Amino acid sequence: MTKPYVYLTRKMPASIVEKLEAECDIGMWEKEEEPVPEEVLEKEMQTADALFCTITDPINKEKIKQAENLKIIATMAVGFNNIDVEAAAKKNIQVAHTPGVLSETTADLTFALIMAAARRIPEGIEVIKNNEWGAWAPFFLTGQDIHHARLGIIGMGRIGEAVAKRGTGFDMDIVYHNRSRKPETEKEIGARYVELDELLETSDFVCVMTPYTNETHHMMNREAFQKMKNTAIFINSSRGGTVDEEALFEALKNGDIRGAGLDVFENEPISADHPLLSLPNVTALPHIGSASENTRWNMAEMTANHILQGLRGEKPDHLVSL
Ligand code: NAP
Repeated sequence: MTKPYVYLTRKMPASIVEKLEAECDIGMWEKEEEPVPEEVLEKEMQTADALFCTITDPINKEKIKQAENLKIIATMAVGFNNIDVEAAAKKNIQVAHTPGVLSETTADLTFALIMAAARRIPEGIEVIKNNEWGAWAPFFLTGQDIHHARLGIIGMGRIGEAVAKRGTGFDMDIVYHNRSRKPETEKEIGARYVELDELLETSDFVCVMTPYTNETHHMMNREAFQKMKNTAIFINSSRGGTVDEEALFEALKNGDIRGAGLDVFENEPISADHPLLSLPNVTALPHIGSASENTRWNMAEMTANHILQGLRGEKPDHLVSL
């Protein structure tokens, strides 16, 4: 009997490939740091029974339409905005992702951004590297306090909650906004539900942790930044598309807000001439929220399991829900 064919859009470690090879034939894009070209992806999707993909692969309606054998798309990520899930559902193609396994790791990085932006850590590093550290001065590189400040989380989900828990260790006052309230979280963390405007107007740190959807596209626009306190810091480790980057640039430049910590950008990767990088009050990282060694291994394992479950006719552990 012929084995099902799985295509992996990025080079994966040998143990992950071997796990799949026990039950499947494998095709793989052999580069680790370069995404598969779209024409290769399109061609592979036409015949594959299963697809192991990442956030950089545009799995759109057109490609899904042409997929003749595809039973499961498993992405090595929790965010699935790169996949047309509705088009997949119409063809009974399952879509699986990796929720939970990366929440704590992404929250660690998000909190690192809060701390780096608040205490101007990148600027401090530059001062030393550029040999600009002079005599002690009373207000040299003074930043914002994190302890006892108000942390506003837009999108109190798995990662939002993990960020909030870290905030309680700093005696922060936690407020949040979702489309629906979470009474259990409110009780457990001591977080308070507020309308979006109140969150924007009163928070010292505004942290976006929603998925990227039609509804959250450019949710942080000029109007939203203008509502924020001019001492506030904006943090984004969700997806770049939730932010209007021109509006953010203006808000930072005009002093409408104090600073920003960003792990994600609308068009990734950005290059060194990205306007936001010209501002000293921006702490920027190259989308490394879930990038701890343990977590990336766990995500890869989980994705391989989803593929095997889907191909065996079992229900994958973590199907995306629309
Ligand atoms: P999650 O558990 O589904 O949480 C998302 C939260 O956002 C939910 O509580 C949801 O609550 C809220 N939400 C959704 N739409 C909203 C809207 N229009 N307005 C306000 N709140 C809204 O997801 P998660 O696991 O925490 O992951 C969140 C996102 O983080 C992912 O989708 C991904 O894009 C991003 N992420 C980034 C990295 C990185 O490397 N930087 C790593 C992992 C994940 P309601 O449904 O009640 O509104």
